[in-house]
Amino acid sequence: NSNGNNNLPQFGPKLLNSDQKSDFFARRQKIEQQRRSLPIASVEKRLIDEVRKNDTLIIVGETGSGKTTQLPQYLYNGGFCHDGGTIGITQPRRVAAVTVAKRVAEECGVELGQKVGYSIRFEDMTSISTRIKYMTDGLLLREALLDPYLSRYSVIVVDEAHERTVQTDVLLGLLKDVQKKRSQKTCSESNNNGVVKEENNVVKPHLVRKLNPLKLIVMSASLDAKGFSEYFGGAKAVHVQGRQFPVDILYTAQPETDCLDAALVTIFQIHLEEGPGDILVFLSGQEEIESIEGLVRENLKKIPESNQKLLILPLFSSLPSEKQLKVFTPAPNGFRKVILATNIAETSVTIPGIKYVIDPGLVKVRSYSPDSGIESLIVVKTSKAQALQRSGRAGREGPGKCFRLYPESRFEGLEDSTIPEIKRCNLSNVILQLSALGVDDIIGFDFMEKPDRMAVIRSLELLYLLGALTDEKKLSDPIGQQMARLPLEPNDSKALILASQFDCLEEMLIVVSMLSVESIFYAPRDKLEESRTVIKSFSSPDGDHITLLNVYRASLEFLEKNKTENGKEKAEKNLRKWCKDNFINSRSLKHARDIYNQIRENVERMGLKIGSCGDDLLPLRRCLAASYFLNAALKQPDGTYRVLANGQIAEIHPTSVLRRTKAECIIFYNLVQTTRNYVRNVTRIDYLWLAELAPQCYALKD
Ligand code: ADP
Ligand code: MG
Repeated sequence: NSNGNNNLPQFGPKLLNSDQKSDFFARRQKIEQQRRSLPIASVEKRLIDEVRKNDTLIIVGETGSGKTTQLPQYLYNGGFCHDGGTIGITQPRRVAAVTVAKRVAEECGVELGQKVGYSIRFEDMTSISTRIKYMTDGLLLREALLDPYLSRYSVIVVDEAHERTVQTDVLLGLLKDVQKKRSQKTCSESNNNGVVKEENNVVKPHLVRKLNPLKLIVMSASLDAKGFSEYFGGAKAVHVQGRQFPVDILYTAQPETDCLDAALVTIFQIHLEEGPGDILVFLSGQEEIESIEGLVRENLKKIPESNQKLLILPLFSSLPSEKQLKVFTPAPNGFRKVILATNIAETSVTIPGIKYVIDPGLVKVRSYSPDSGIESLIVVKTSKAQALQRSGRAGREGPGKCFRLYPESRFEGLEDSTIPEIKRCNLSNVILQLSALGVDDIIGFDFMEKPDRMAVIRSLELLYLLGALTDEKKLSDPIGQQMARLPLEPNDSKALILASQFDCLEEMLIVVSMLSVESIFYAPRDKLEESRTVIKSFSSPDGDHITLLNVYRASLEFLEKNKTENGKEKAEKNLRKWCKDNFINSRSLKHARDIYNQIRENVERMGLKIGSCGDDLLPLRRCLAASYFLNAALKQPDGTYRVLANGQIAEIHPTSVLRRTKAECIIFYNLVQTTRNYVRNVTRIDYLWLAELAPQCYALKD
């Protein structure tokens, strides 16, 4: 109940002593007060009315106005779950889904996973009683495969639509269609539209109810609602007034050559010279965050102790969720927080207490070249809209300051808004998913913005080369069907399916899991030599994939041995120490283990044979060549590599174990473009294998 305290908390207080009880109620009171003071609270009734009247509604409101946390609760209290339906809220980012769900569960006074829950790839925190369900947009797409009417949902809120991720765009098109089908279905048949849920391969009805029309709400932080409104046939748009204090924008006089260094200097400048208030720094990824985290710690030791009260908090998607939530806790008395975040903090999550923003003006995005068919991650300049969102984060609770680490003239030259991801990514995953949903004509699909024709053709070609599509552009059976069921990129799915035939699925599961996380190794700047020596003990002359496998196997062996000696909990603790000693990122390793368990369950359910090749890793390398054949490159006389598919020249990334040995022919997992082209996660192969294992793509000339 959003208007009062008369809904009793459903857990907790009865187990507490009287002191704890008063703490608990004080906290609840504070939460209620915070909720009431959010800008969106004043329009609760109006929003509910509009949702009742309109099947599709666009809600636009500034970041922090309370859209994501409050609207689902208003809908719940407004009776939108009365028919047994669930309110689903999609987020482009895992972190947002998790942290917001935790917050909302707390606001509702319920245990997470009960009335309020979340579901993201590799992690499901929902139950049969979940009515407010936060999830990633990709996850809802996968649910549509099993339940084409999305019949368990009475309302779907597509949040952060301004981000225009490829999954959001596909989802919008799909939801439009589901809405149409659902309203037809209610007219023609009115009973037995049972909801089905797939669990351990059993499809079972878990709820039978009449299907009502699907309510769709599109939420966005950008003020331009027109595009969304037009796409949904002139849907009504409601604006929620935000609250914004003035933010002083400061630019550098000259362009910065070393962004990390500039950010570091600015952090200390603020910390030592400016008044109280927390700092938010926007960085492009986990690696940058971890390296600056190290630098700040190092430099902190060098200043007088009285000035050392700086709390450093990283925030990126693969961080364990307890750590993510730490950014929301106020700093202890006298301390200042500095939050090192990826783009997550731009609009997805609002962190209280921020007064200073440091914006290097960069963001990591996916980029796809239809010519080569290769997707890469590149760091590019933000758009003006993004720069404004970032600076806005400093003025939520009072006047703030934003330090843009570039000259003012550069700002003027930025693009107005970000190009939707669908215009610049590999579409093979989207095509695979849509094909599985029965949409064969991708070009004809009702996208808000059509993808590039050439990109569609190249992505279709890739799927065809991988054997996922037939000549008639239909999903092949079983390969295409199996690939669509795995929650992975098509290449990775193919690698698993093939590995089952090559009898090395056990190993490939590990490799794919390890590749799904960013940076397994870390090398602190002050211990570079030492870390190199230690890391060498895992390295394989055949390349990075097997090196990753070695790390995983060694960690498991350590863990198992420790478990029998010390018990599970102690063993996990010891493993963290082991990681530290071996310069392995224990967060990333833990994440990889979770992913491994999930995908293993998936392939088991699909009935793939999980064999192991033991210590002879030749089959694994051959299988890698057979799956990632488009990412093959040949060594040039000057030591650089030429990508066979498109003639692009690249170097082996400095972190690769093949950096010095320079194999003749390699396959790589990613192509990263910074000032140079780098290939990362590289394995040595024999080029003859390409013609043998990927004859659809390669042939020998002589
Ligand atoms: P919007 O979606 O409009 O950007 P949100 O609903 O995300 O706004 O945020 C509303 C308020 O809730 C903000 O003041 C934010 O700081 C707070 N909030 C969100 N998540 C948490 C959390 N996990 N812990 C504490 N406060 C939170
Ligand atoms: Mg939000």
